[in-house]
Amino acid sequence: MPLRVRQHRFWLRVRGIPPRGKYTIARRLLQLVILALFSTQLLVSGSIVVGTLASSRVLKIVPMLDVFAWLEHAAASRGSISTESILAVLVVFTLYSFLGRAFCGWVCPMDLLFSLFERKVNNPRLPLTRPHTPGRIEKALPLITMAVFLGLSMVLGQPFYTTISPVAGATKLGSMVVGVVYNIPGATLGLVMAWATITGLALFINIAAEYLFGVKRLWCRFLCPVGAFYGFVTNKYSPLKVKVVNAEKCLGCGLCSLACPVSIELLDYIKEKKDIMDYRCFHCGRCVEACPHGVLSLGFRIRGGGGRT
Ligand code: SF4
Ligand code: SF4
Repeated sequence: MPLRVRQHRFWLRVRGIPPRGKYTIARRLLQLVILALFSTQLLVSGSIVVGTLASSRVLKIVPMLDVFAWLEHAAASRGSISTESILAVLVVFTLYSFLGRAFCGWVCPMDLLFSLFERKVNNPRLPLTRPHTPGRIEKALPLITMAVFLGLSMVLGQPFYTTISPVAGATKLGSMVVGVVYNIPGATLGLVMAWATITGLALFINIAAEYLFGVKRLWCRFLCPVGAFYGFVTNKYSPLKVKVVNAEKCLGCGLCSLACPVSIELLDYIKEKKDIMDYRCFHCGRCVEACPHGVLSLGFRIRGGGGRT
């Protein structure tokens, strides 16, 4: 067995994690910088970003509105949508048309939080944790969740998930904590507690599902409509993807699949020499870092996907 494979196996068995590389470091830095920018917005006059991860304004001019948040607003207002909101959502939609579901792996603070507590290697004995190709029911569940949230928004006349979203909530929590520490008007301990509860609940659900029931990343795979939208829509055609670049070098060791946080069975793609177009993939690059032979690569390619979702 080649030395590099033995080293990677050693990391998996002894340390419990595959070696980390440039993508993990870059992602964590970006997530922290974005969280810090949102958290300090009340403190810094002329802050680079104002708002939350659901709806914000960058450099005072560029409006950004998450696509699912926009859909919920449209449902809640029964189609009465402003031109500004259309512009704001187009900015975000265009961005993730290039980047696919990268929001989840590179921006979302919940990914950062989940990764602190979850197991770093998939358990091959548990059905929803071991690397696998999802069945019809598993694939339908996130779509059902999205439909339920949109229906609730329409019935309640108010964006349902966006109001309680821990994704946006984590940025609100950060800015409220800073606001309370620096005594900034509008920031209260009550708001800190409220957002901490929402974020903590999402974390608890996600971790409990993994440790008690063997379901990895329950939140991201079944409950969060923000990631699901990018997964089912923009991941289908975005040029950013994990590419199979050296399929002939693959020894079938499966280290890539074991390192994947959302349990994608990568060997199937490698055998078929198809780039990874799975709706669950959030372009984190862990599989690329785990492979000792450079079979995979993260980057842009217009063609090369197999069309599998
Ligand atoms: S699925 Fe939702 S919670 Fe999970 S990483 Fe993506 S946006 Fe964040
Ligand atoms: S397939 Fe690779 S890039 Fe995609 S989520 Fe899994 S480990 Fe991350």
